[in-house]
Amino acid sequence: MKPTILHLDLDTFFVSCERLLDSRLMKRPLLVGGLGDRGVVAACSYETRRFGVHSGMSMKVARRLCPEATVIKGNAGTYMKFSDNVTEIIKESVPVFEKASVDEFYADLSGMDRFLVVINTPRK
Ligand SMILES: [Mg+2]
Repeated sequence: MKPTILHLDLDTFFVSCERLLDSRLMKRPLLVGGLGDRGVVAACSYETRRFGVHSGMSMKVARRLCPEATVIKGNAGTYMKFSDNVTEIIKESVPVFEKASVDEFYADLSGMDRFLVVINTPRK
C-alpha cells in the first residue's frame, strides 16, 4: 500500500495565539518577534504583508514598512501550550503522526479512507 502523508502547517500560528489571548488584535496588523535593534520577525499577520513584511526579516525594517503594526515580543511557553492543544486534537484524530515543530505536523493517513464517508453530490 502506498503511504498517504498529510503535512499540516499552522498558518500564522503565533499571530493566531496572540489573537486568542487578546481579541482586540483581530484584523489588525501584528508583528511578533524580537523587539531590539537586531530583532527578527518571527510571525506577521496578513494585514502587514501588503506592505512587504514577511517573517524572518529584520524587525526594524518591518516596523519601518508597517509603522501602524502592533509589535509583540511573543512568548514561547504560551505557543507551546497552544501547540499542545493542537497536538491533542491530532492525536485524537489519527493513529500515527509526528510533531515536526511547534506549528508543524505530519499525519499518516494510509488506509484511513476506510473510515471516511464519501458523499456524492449531483453535478449541475
Ligand atoms: Mg506555519
